[in-house]
Amino acid sequence: MTMKIIYIVAFFVATASFAHSVTIKTLPETVVQGSPLYVEISSQEKLSCKTVTFNSQTIVPFKVDDHTCAALFGIDLTTPPNKYTLTFDRLFSKKISIQKLTLPTETLTLKEIDPKYLDQIKKDDATLAKIFKTVTKSRYYHGSFISPLDTLYVTSYFGKPRVINGTPRKPHAGLDLRGAEGTDVKATNDGHVVFSDELFLSGKSIIIDHGWGVYSMYFHLSNQKVKKNAEVKKGDVIGCVGKTGYRVSKSHLHFGVYILTAKIDPLLLFKIPIRFE
Ligand SMILES: [Zn+2]
Repeated sequence: MTMKIIYIVAFFVATASFAHSVTIKTLPETVVQGSPLYVEISSQEKLSCKTVTFNSQTIVPFKVDDHTCAALFGIDLTTPPNKYTLTFDRLFSKKISIQKLTLPTETLTLKEIDPKYLDQIKKDDATLAKIFKTVTKSRYYHGSFISPLDTLYVTSYFGKPRVINGTPRKPHAGLDLRGAEGTDVKATNDGHVVFSDELFLSGKSIIIDHGWGVYSMYFHLSNQKVKKNAEVKKGDVIGCVGKTGYRVSKSHLHFGVYILTAKIDPLLLFKIPIRFE
């Protein structure tokens, strides 16, 4: 009888300590398709930061300090709106509700693509896909992400459904930012340049690996100031705004961010106060 009481008491103490020992905070507060998802886990007790799982992706969170772990996920535009479970170290969980992103359709008339270039476009797509699916097991980024242009003026928002020359196409995978030709383009965070070359549709392009599956891309540049394999710091000038790329007529910067292959809205990422350095 005494043993039984001890077991029962022990069970309640264990449950109570689990229930109260961990706080899971997530940002942004409203999560839509195309959102980044920043997760911060804290506790009065020391945390070991082993795993965080969300929507079948498991990653190792970063240690902010002995009592805090953090992780960054991306929710792709194609993720169906629903409730998903976020799990920390397989013990603690939180439900995250993903809302549908509803934006007006953008209708564009662009130069038709000569079929002789389709092979080149496919080749470019394969090159990019290979880059984005590589998850570097180090984190190069520190703190929050910044705008690549000093003046942030969006001419086409992320995620807008597009009809190009009368045919529905994939939604816009980044932001188009207004900028005069020659305006400095800055690295959104620290990282390694993994691509500095020319793409048929995107023109002169740079892609930076920020580590742990986070990539930023800068398209239609007039020139690149960094080469492949260069290490860059947040705010370094990496190139200039231009209008390179087969169908581009006006100078602007296309800026995109992918997190663990999910295309996300950079404007939402800029707002997240990432605490780990
Ligand atoms: Zn664009």
